[in-house]
Amino acid sequence: MSDCLFCKIIAREVPGSIVYEDERVLAFNDINPQAPTHVLIVPKRHVASLSDLTEDDDEMVGELVRRAAVIAGDRGIAAGGYRTVFNTNRDAGQTVFHIHLHLIGGRRLQWPPG
Ligand code: 5GP
Ligand code: ZN
Repeated sequence: MSDCLFCKIIAREVPGSIVYEDERVLAFNDINPQAPTHVLIVPKRHVASLSDLTEDDDEMVGELVRRAAVIAGDRGIAAGGYRTVFNTNRDAGQTVFHIHLHLIGGRRLQWPPG
């Protein structure tokens, strides 16, 4: 999608601090990290939000979630714990409408979120 920020990062039209890439998935550091680890994991194919997923996307969603777990393991934060979040639409604070999984960790996180 031409006016989508994360599509532009995927296309290298906007710089990103990329931590993982394969044919279908890109992971990069959040520009405004909320914890020592704050990585965004996105599909390369544009999907606006969790609400826009179809049955055909089930495998891709599994890849995003699994990738978060692998990155957490690689960074040594898995045993201590980490959080994975999809914000969806206004009330959850979604600001970029290309689906992304937040991987947040490396410090003690509060619950419930604000
Ligand atoms: P949302 O609020 O939609 O769930 O999350 C969007 C995230 O994208 C925010 O955490 C925000 O800091 C991050 N973000 C916004 N613009 C950029 C950017 O240009 N580059 C990167 N790496 N992250 C961004
Ligand atoms: Zn996009």
